[in-house]
Amino acid sequence: MQEIKEKFTCLIIGSGPAGYTAAIYASRANLKPTLYQGIQPGGQLTITTDVENYPGYPDGIQGPEMMIHFEKQALRMGTDIRYGLATNVDFTKHPLRVEIDEEKWVEADSVIIATGASAKWLGIKGEQRLNGHGVSACAVCDGFFFKNMEVAIVGAGDTAAEEALYLSKICSKVHMIVRRDEMRASKIMQQRVLDTKNIQIYWNSETEEVCGEHKVEQVIIKNNKTNELSTIPVSAFFVAIGHTPNSSIFKGWLDMDESGYIKTQPGCTKTNVEGVFAAGDVQDMIYRQAVTAAGSGCMAALDAERFLSEKGLF
Ligand code: NDP
Repeated sequence: MQEIKEKFTCLIIGSGPAGYTAAIYASRANLKPTLYQGIQPGGQLTITTDVENYPGYPDGIQGPEMMIHFEKQALRMGTDIRYGLATNVDFTKHPLRVEIDEEKWVEADSVIIATGASAKWLGIKGEQRLNGHGVSACAVCDGFFFKNMEVAIVGAGDTAAEEALYLSKICSKVHMIVRRDEMRASKIMQQRVLDTKNIQIYWNSETEEVCGEHKVEQVIIKNNKTNELSTIPVSAFFVAIGHTPNSSIFKGWLDMDESGYIKTQPGCTKTNVEGVFAAGDVQDMIYRQAVTAAGSGCMAALDAERFLSEKGLF
């Protein structure tokens, strides 16, 4: 039996650019949103350093600082921001139900899901210690800092291929570490990688360790056929082995693709459940940028506002 502790007009789950932008718009529309920040307040940007591709910051900004700005703006507009994690949902009927911190259930007339995605990591020595000091899971975000330098990238899917190509235009050389003797990426992307002169592929290779005292200096790789170890001097190590959308609590309720990305209707943020909207990386496996997440957060708030007023709930 779910004892309901509180009732909201608009509940926002997640505190990355999508969640906070939804909060700013929903607050200004007088929906009096409540936002639960989740396990990592501020989201993925809190584990990056310089952000130079978010419009409005001509000198760039540190990721964590930018997220404090997002939060302050949402607070100033009147969002009720809370520390807490959505741990379960029950979308059987309206109002929609969400469990917080495994201890209390709340109700909401509309729910905006902005729980983001998490980059997968290898879990090897040096990887976390040097994260933000040359280790990155986003070439588009961090590639620029390694202009004319040699970098390594691990992965062989479309993301890795796209990021290797992106890096090849900025960096002097890209060492691409592929664990099998073939790539998973689409044929056209593979061909582009193979045709790019400054991308060197290491087949059947796995990374053993990322080395460097304060920043990445080299990576040690092992050929998994011969067990031979080799060292590649690089200034950065990009991990592109996929992302996991943070959508597990919605399984069985919302339509998702095979990777767990929530499906939204074309051109809007509506999910298959009326009154439930999804924005940001949890529904976007392609772009995954702060600015695109913020844009879809805005869309979700506008969609929620329209839904609530059509239903006479607001
Ligand atoms: P994928 O899951 O497609 O690929 C992950 C890659 O990482 C695979 O090559 C895999 O190797 C490798 N990998 C996984 N774990 C390890 C490990 N521990 N050590 C070394 N390598 C590892 O993820 P992507 O992010 O590339 O793509 C996700 C989806 O998004 C795909 O469907 C892709 O097509 C799509 N996408 C589409 C784009 C576009 O259309 N423009 C752009 C980017 C992505 P292995 O092959 O051996 O399993």
